Amino acid sequence: MSTATAEPATSTLRLSEKDISRFWSKVRKGTVEECWDWMASTNEGYGQFHVRSKGRNNRLLAHRVSFALHNGPITSDVYILHKCDNPKCCNPDHLFPGTAKDNALDAKSKKRHCHGVKHGCHRLTEDQVREMRALHGLGITQVELAKRFGVRQGHVTKVVRCRSWSHILTEASQ
Ligand SMILES: [Zn+2]
Repeated sequence: MSTATAEPATSTLRLSEKDISRFWSKVRKGTVEECWDWMASTNEGYGQFHVRSKGRNNRLLAHRVSFALHNGPITSDVYILHKCDNPKCCNPDHLFPGTAKDNALDAKSKKRHCHGVKHGCHRLTEDQVREMRALHGLGITQVELAKRFGVRQGHVTKVVRCRSWSHILTEASQ
């Protein structure tokens, strides 16, 4: 029996085979080169996958689930980054693990950093902002987010409310 863990927040969760096949039924698989878009609900552009476990409803980020299914469990301090810059994409070949620093460097190399400088959100990249908002939407506290992203809590508050980042919200949640 193949199981994998993926993380909703700080805890780990086992996915049953039934969950796993349900997961893939929501992904439009293509070739290695193509993006495998998440077809179900999204949060801040990221696919979200609902799993019931031990009587609780968990919402997992779909690209993290895909990565975990292919590469084994990941912990909450590991970022799963997109080579393709498409937050909905679940193609494991387009995903790679990294730290917060890698995420920032990756964003810088793609020259999509710096929006929001005037509003004090400049320490975060767009990917981080998206992920932070997605996690906040899943109920992760601002204190936890601040720790995880290595910023002050004030930054987190700005990000979850900050209008200066509204340009990221074009793929808004449904
Ligand atoms: Zn992709």
